[in-house]
Amino acid sequence: MIDAIQIKAAAKNLGADLCGIAPGDRFNEAPEGFRPMDIYSECRSVIVFAKKLPTDAIFAASCVPYTMVNNVVTQMVDGITVELALYLERMGVRAVPVPSDDPYEHWEQKRQYGRAILSMRHAAWLAGLGVLGKNTLLINEDLGNMIQIGAVLVDAELEPDEIARYSSCPEGCSLCIDACPQGALDGITVNQELCRPLSNFRTEKGYVLKKCSICRRVCPNLAGIDKLKAL
Ligand code: SF4
Ligand code: SF4
Repeated sequence: MIDAIQIKAAAKNLGADLCGIAPGDRFNEAPEGFRPMDIYSECRSVIVFAKKLPTDAIFAASCVPYTMVNNVVTQMVDGITVELALYLERMGVRAVPVPSDDPYEHWEQKRQYGRAILSMRHAAWLAGLGVLGKNTLLINEDLGNMIQIGAVLVDAELEPDEIARYSSCPEGCSLCIDACPQGALDGITVNQELCRPLSNFRTEKGYVLKKCSICRRVCPNLAGIDKLKAL
């Protein structure tokens, strides 16, 4: 039977920069209906990986480069997810790929609230890939918050990774909360109704642009914990 080391090597060969494993029962605190076992009842382990986005796209005066890298890397992550599931299948492991972002089914029109079938940032935290910042993004010690996350649910019990122990936000930091032009952050969640008009801005031509990325950009952990000053 394939082991965790082989799976992580396969994920990295496919283009992932990080990979970790969380046991299915670590998700017991997740909302009912959005746990790995709700998606796939045989799930015993969640393989979570991440791919880096080019950091400087977020510093462009135009929002177009940042929008493009987000779209492309999300597609790349979904591609890795499917390839990894196919690889696991060949190795005799039952594997269910989960989309990095959309599609999802849960939608509350009135408050413009969507919920993915599995919270990728929580899955990544539970698999030891990083810690959650007050801007609600996952922060990895080495790669920072410019990462896109993917996951595959498997029926195999694999050696899990420890949850990361480093801290995300320097004491007293509220740069992201203070900088949000919509007042959408409270340090724990993002109010999607307030954020969505800027983070999913639709042009007259129909393009969807990420007009705002301030909460990500102002974070001192953008490029890795304590690494921004080295840029
Ligand atoms: S993307 Fe912009 S509007 Fe949305 S939470 Fe971040 S700073 Fe606020
Ligand atoms: S800007 Fe400060 S408070 Fe916000 S996520 Fe980054 S370190 Fe944490």
